[in-house]
Amino acid sequence: MIAISRPSIGSEEVKMVTQSLLSGKLAQGALVEELEKEFATYCDTKYAVAVNSGTAAIHTILQALEIEPGDEVIVPAFTFIASASPVIFCGAKVIFCDISASDFCISAEEIAKHISLNTKAVITVDLFGQICDYKKIKSVCGTRISIVEDACQSIGATQDGKKSGSSGKAAAFSLYATKNITSGEGGMITTSSKLIMEKCKRFRNHGQEESKRYDYIEIGYNYRMTDFQAALALAQIKKVENFTAKRILNAQMLSKGLQNIPGLILPSVKPNSRHVFHQYVLRVKENIFGPRSEFVAYLKKNGIFVGIHYPIPLPFTSYFSNMGYRKGDFPVAESMSREVVSLPVHPGLTKKDINYIIETISRYAKNK
Ligand SMILES: *Cc1c(COP(=O)(O)O)cnc(C)c1O
Repeated sequence: MIAISRPSIGSEEVKMVTQSLLSGKLAQGALVEELEKEFATYCDTKYAVAVNSGTAAIHTILQALEIEPGDEVIVPAFTFIASASPVIFCGAKVIFCDISASDFCISAEEIAKHISLNTKAVITVDLFGQICDYKKIKSVCGTRISIVEDACQSIGATQDGKKSGSSGKAAAFSLYATKNITSGEGGMITTSSKLIMEKCKRFRNHGQEESKRYDYIEIGYNYRMTDFQAALALAQIKKVENFTAKRILNAQMLSKGLQNIPGLILPSVKPNSRHVFHQYVLRVKENIFGPRSEFVAYLKKNGIFVGIHYPIPLPFTSYFSNMGYRKGDFPVAESMSREVVSLPVHPGLTKKDINYIIETISRYAKNK
């Protein structure tokens, strides 16, 4: 069986978590602080703030930016729910925006169509491991509209040498078990603004300043990370370059092996950018290749587990169904949701696994 994802845990992780557990300090402490330093250094930002999920990271950033009822926040129609739900936690309105077929990201042109006087922020999702075109997005957002990067899938990605998480006002990362590096559950915020960093630290700890315990400046949450999760993340971040190199190599092998199959559109990498392949997402053109569902079932029968990221554009999920969106409002997101298949690409795969995936797909394509 070849899984769609598997965390890479070695003796370093076991050692660091064990040491942390035996230290007697389980809650947020020195290891969280150390992780924040390492993370900021890795992302080329001044600061990082650890929280307990990627969702909490986005919520905390929006709170620091004072997103509130009456505000509009632009979010891609094709992403995971946690890119949008924090906007609703803040009482603000989600304005959905279509994506580009070439990179699954939102473009400056699409964003521009949705900007109003109430637009306060854009959540740019660097989907599947490739980053949005921030130069252009910055020029349409100007200084009035904050860019919040949802970098949950893109740690280590770059564009023109600039790291994922260093382009917007702040960025959110996830350390969930299936992400490129993990602490089981966990999240990180990166920013180069001292004010945003301080507000984020306050919000994750019940609205208290670190220096003034039991005085509550605002109502915050308990979004703190534990030190043993930070221990796991510290072991993982030391390996992130190795993991990423392996993902890129696996993606290159898949693309080479599958390049001549009619009806499959393989993922493309933009010029001057580093795609970190959180997911290897190909598109099935059903009129040429046949039904996606049969293909997915065949792979499963042959022990290859794939994903569909994502089967329904967010505006068409049940929760948002009363917003008045209609079929055809997000043409690209709608066709992507019918076409995409994510193949295994994680660093735990062997060359043999990759060859097996290529052979199985080639055989299916020939015999169908
Ligand atoms: C994983 C993910 C999140 C949420 O992260 P959690 O740690 O699961 O809360 C948000 N946005 C995107 C794009 C993600 O992939």
